Amino acid sequence: MILYNSASRKREEFVPHNPELVSMYTCGPTVYHFAHIGNLRSYIMEDVLEKYLRYIGYSVKRVMNITDVGHLTSDADEGEDKMLKGAKREHKSVMEIAKYYTDAFFSDCNKLNIKRPDVVEPATNCIEDYIRIITKLLDTGYAYLAGGNVYFDTSKLDRYYVFNDFNEDDLAVGVREGVEEDVNKRNKNDFVLWFTKSKFEDQALKWDSPWGTGYPGWHIECSGISMKHLGEYIDIHCGGIDNAFPHHTNEIAQSEAYLGHKWVKYWMHVLHLNTTDGKMSKSKGEFLTVSLLEEKGYDPVAYRFFCLQSHYRKSLVFTWENLDNAQLAYNKLIAKIAALKPDDGEVDRTVYETLKQKFMAGLDNDLNTSLGITALYDVLKAKTNDATKLFCIGDFDQVLSLSLLEKAAAKREELKKQAVTAGEFTIIAEDGTPDAEIEAKIYARRDAKKAKNFALADQIRDELKAAGIEVTDIPNGAKWKHI
Ligand SMILES: [Zn+2]
Repeated sequence: MILYNSASRKREEFVPHNPELVSMYTCGPTVYHFAHIGNLRSYIMEDVLEKYLRYIGYSVKRVMNITDVGHLTSDADEGEDKMLKGAKREHKSVMEIAKYYTDAFFSDCNKLNIKRPDVVEPATNCIEDYIRIITKLLDTGYAYLAGGNVYFDTSKLDRYYVFNDFNEDDLAVGVREGVEEDVNKRNKNDFVLWFTKSKFEDQALKWDSPWGTGYPGWHIECSGISMKHLGEYIDIHCGGIDNAFPHHTNEIAQSEAYLGHKWVKYWMHVLHLNTTDGKMSKSKGEFLTVSLLEEKGYDPVAYRFFCLQSHYRKSLVFTWENLDNAQLAYNKLIAKIAALKPDDGEVDRTVYETLKQKFMAGLDNDLNTSLGITALYDVLKAKTNDATKLFCIGDFDQVLSLSLLEKAAAKREELKKQAVTAGEFTIIAEDGTPDAEIEAKIYARRDAKKAKNFALADQIRDELKAAGIEVTDIPNGAKWKHI
């Protein structure tokens, strides 16, 4: 499999550090609010990657953190504490907020068919891991104490900017709007490993540490949690592209300074979901959540389908019109699969192998899910029996997770019911409101006709007419209206 590695900026053959078990780490959500569908695009694509690795035979251990402490509104340690902000907004405790939005996140994932990672670890569970790492960084001179906080010293590294050739002036603290310069920092990109003294006196969660009571910075949690569960080497570290700097850059700085060797083999970054006026965010425009999609009548899986239609390294533009098109295409796809007849002969393994090669060629090519979807349409067009087609669709959907067979089976049932209903005597209320009493009389008239008691049938019709109801016979039924 070929994967684009954002660290080398090259497409590379995927060779795991340990072929027996691929280690995968995902930066999880900061649980102070709902995730917007732009955040969820990253989790969808990472889910496809994990499932594809399993599909091609790897065992995978995937770990994700839940940020419930230490993340400030600016990723560079400035601004408000996000969790506190959420708690104040909703007049709840930080832990209540964390629980509520963690559950909401996984409920969204569920609706989007995103598998829960093997390990999900809240940041507040691993305080001793951070303390151990920070202690060594201080001992080895990579960190320093200033103004009561512990900082990572970025000047100690040969190379700090690993992902992009940033212009250092662009990143200077203090020039960004609303950001106060932290005078304790020796270098402008130094970052906090542990806060003891800060402007957040009302921070609810604090722990004892060798440097005083306080709490960890945001970046250290991913290093601590990943090392706890995956050891010293990670094969694939993923996240949204907005995490590349400073978050992932800082994760690498502190992890490699601590470990003394290269930490992550492949970095996978998913590009933004944009609206027509730029990058999607919680504060700008309509707050697009999975619940909102549902309220507007969309199937969340159709949003997944929308994401899979384009490559993860291209930014994707969200408009309601684009989602309408995706929903329509998804419905048509389900209808086509529903039209296939299950148990239609034996599965043709040769045909399956050929179609599977096409599917894999797409995903092996840096997870090109849109080619994977094309392979799905190729199955529908293939010259083979329905059983083989359904087998291929079920097989590919282990990776795509579009609920194709389940939805098609439900559609088939629905069509069957409609067919049965069509064969029964149907009564239509022409002005739209059914009326049990009138229907009972129409049934009685039908029964009278069946029994060839036409006098009674006419009598019932006349009675209805006298009551202001006109009945007209239609094939296999009757319609009525007020006159
Ligand atoms: Zn992270």
